[in-house]
Amino acid sequence: MDRDQPVILGALLHDIGKFGERTQQPLPHWAEPLRNEARYSHEPYSAVFVEEHLGRWPLDMATVRRLVLKHHVPSLPDELLVSLADRLSAYERAEAEGDEEGARGRAETTLRTVFSRLFAVSADAAQYHELAHLSLDPRTLFPRPDAVGSAVAYRALWETFICEIARVPQGDWRTLLAVLRRFTWAIPSDTRRDIIPDISLYHHLKTTAAIAACLVREGLSESDLQTLHDALTNCWKKAPLTAREEELLKRPVCALVKGDISGTQDFLYLLTSSGAARGLRGRSFYLQLLTETIAEWILRRFRLPPANILFVGGGHFYLLLPYREAIERLRECRERIARVLWKVHRGDLALLLDSAAVAAIDFLEEEAGGKAFADKWDEVSRRISEQKQRKWRDLGDTAMLNELFAPRQRGLTAEDTCQVCHNEGALEIEDGVRKCQHCRGFEELGRLLRDPTHLVLFAVPEADPPELGDWRDVLRAFGTEAWLVHEGEDVPRKPPGATAATVYTFDTTDFLAEDILRRFRWGDLPVSYDFRWLADATPRKRNEHGQEVIAEFADLAQASEGVKWLGVLRMDVDSLGDIFKSGLGRQATISRMSTLSESLRLFFEGWVPRLCQQYNGFRQGGKDALYLIYAGGDDLFIVGAWSVLPELARCIRDDFRKFVGGDHVTLSGGIAIEHPKFPLYQLAANARHALDDEAKEFRRPNGRSKDALSFLQTAVGWEDFVHLADWKDKLLRMLRPGETAPALPRAFLMRLMEIHALYAENRARWRRAERRREITREQLEELVHYDKWQWRLVYHLSRFAERYTAHQETINCLQQAIVREPNGFITRLRLLARWVELLTREG
Ligand SMILES: [Zn+2]
Ligand SMILES: [Zn+2]
Repeated sequence: MDRDQPVILGALLHDIGKFGERTQQPLPHWAEPLRNEARYSHEPYSAVFVEEHLGRWPLDMATVRRLVLKHHVPSLPDELLVSLADRLSAYERAEAEGDEEGARGRAETTLRTVFSRLFAVSADAAQYHELAHLSLDPRTLFPRPDAVGSAVAYRALWETFICEIARVPQGDWRTLLAVLRRFTWAIPSDTRRDIIPDISLYHHLKTTAAIAACLVREGLSESDLQTLHDALTNCWKKAPLTAREEELLKRPVCALVKGDISGTQDFLYLLTSSGAARGLRGRSFYLQLLTETIAEWILRRFRLPPANILFVGGGHFYLLLPYREAIERLRECRERIARVLWKVHRGDLALLLDSAAVAAIDFLEEEAGGKAFADKWDEVSRRISEQKQRKWRDLGDTAMLNELFAPRQRGLTAEDTCQVCHNEGALEIEDGVRKCQHCRGFEELGRLLRDPTHLVLFAVPEADPPELGDWRDVLRAFGTEAWLVHEGEDVPRKPPGATAATVYTFDTTDFLAEDILRRFRWGDLPVSYDFRWLADATPRKRNEHGQEVIAEFADLAQASEGVKWLGVLRMDVDSLGDIFKSGLGRQATISRMSTLSESLRLFFEGWVPRLCQQYNGFRQGGKDALYLIYAGGDDLFIVGAWSVLPELARCIRDDFRKFVGGDHVTLSGGIAIEHPKFPLYQLAANARHALDDEAKEFRRPNGRSKDALSFLQTAVGWEDFVHLADWKDKLLRMLRPGETAPALPRAFLMRLMEIHALYAENRARWRRAERRREITREQLEELVHYDKWQWRLVYHLSRFAERYTAHQETINCLQQAIVREPNGFITRLRLLARWVELLTREG
């Protein structure tokens, strides 16, 4: 990478001057003449930034300065290359149109959230981000319709930015990238009046660097670079292309690589109840570390900067690699990964890896005659899912059936298997339970994940994992050693042979604070600094010795209101594929794709844990009710006291709606609840069924589907859920003895369920008749009785109202709510009654 570094750094910083320019502070005197060498005014500001703040980096900084200055008027090959990368990341139409005002910095324009770009949301419904550094402060995180920027706001942000830049270790990419992410995530990269300012400067800079890192390795000649450059200009002008231009536009220059860990469901949930709770958090965190470690390992093999990870999270990653090298060497990577994972995890975890060739034309918006990057994103994902199916097909029919229907018959009682995961291994008895090295390792990791402040990853020599290795050995095989550090603890010792370290600070973007830089250093070892979200809400309790430990599932169940059951909540974004593929439409450039996936991740990984933590009251002397197993990518999985899950789901949905600024991107949820002895795997599968087969299949009379929650086997559109929850509260109040009014007996709930059963039965008959398109005399009679449930309703409920006069009014309201819409509230009556019944049941 050394020789290529100035080019990639030039690409990363080419537009940083837009930030400086919008502070409306004048250029320093010495830099005024630079204007003559540039096209617009942001380039001299970029050059000043490089000169004044990174001037002492151990690189050819004169070249970097020249590259950022010339990126709109390139002539030398490296200038052409940076300019190309810029155009492929987000084409600046101004150039083609000769718009001298183009890319001018308007400080009042704020970043329109990428969600307000999806599915052609109208301008008056659009939402904007406050100009602020990245944090989990709700005012920063949630967009608003009226956020406006100003030169003053830019100046304040710039000043802190410059202070932090001074702390970046010289020559350190990762730290620089993290500082850029913190400060430029909400800066619009283009602020011309006639365009939508939805691309964040951070994502534009990062993807430009990633593309440049690939182009520089493709060995394009000077004339090729020039031809490609002309081709892009002609594309925009819709001018005819020469044969050579055409050819170069279609020649692959990058490979979009996707990696996807398979087997994660079984790995997480196919555990017995002995100790499952203690190991789960560790398992989930390991999957995340493993995905990241493999992505980083591939980048190191290809000598690429961290910018080339386009996305990592949710058990998968997307990388941008140089095309020719990827073709030559990806197979070797795949084999090494497969060998390591097989040796330690046998068939339990595998990594699927595939790629799609990307030509210059694939980066362009359709308006520019391109194909838009979303197609590639989709293509590589399709290949991965084909691979998943092939994996089974290759096994042959009989083997496939065995694999599918007897996944883990490994001897439940045999003395030689782990009592938690049923695997063989290095077994040891711990607290009376026989556990393998994996389960012990994950429990330990779970313990370490209690309030860590930092994660330290050392780059160490790759070592083949030993027989009976554990998670640490897998990471080491990919050249990484991981340590979690807690408040007041010594920093870990430098492992033998370590060549570098990355120090992540959890849950704050203030990751370059004085004490962090002072504490985390190991002699002359190069250290990078970064920040990340821990995505943690782990329940605690005190054990018999008064120590704080991870609470068991049974403890969570005990925290329920009413019946002491356990529940699982799963949620994910509706039609994610469509959002990526068609949501951005013809403008699906790589920088928008990057902004979109990173935004979703921020909500799930950063914000959802905060919502969960509100339900864990152990620290305040109460009980913890939730265990966040996983939140990232676009989905989440939570185990907890069943009674808090519907409320939590609604909370998450309400905030998601605020986050995306409307109803054009939605999410659904599925809740499954059971007795705490019920196997987790089954509970997880039931919640999956509730989500995929009920909530996602939910259809409204007007045809709109999904955007729903399934709870107690009934899917309810979110719009009706609030109403339903209100009725739940009203019923609860009537069922609880008050000071003056006697409580309604629980028999009232039984009547409601009977009424629903009658309704459902009648409806089913009616439907059957309708389907057969034949109405016999018998069926006709049934239809006459169609209203039997309504009669019952009036009869039974009125009798309750007469007897319990204090509740008369509410009962009458309930009756009316039920009959008002023919197929509305009545369809949810069983859910309502059952919900209240469980909430009021003892033990
Ligand atoms: Zn520019
Ligand atoms: Zn085990």
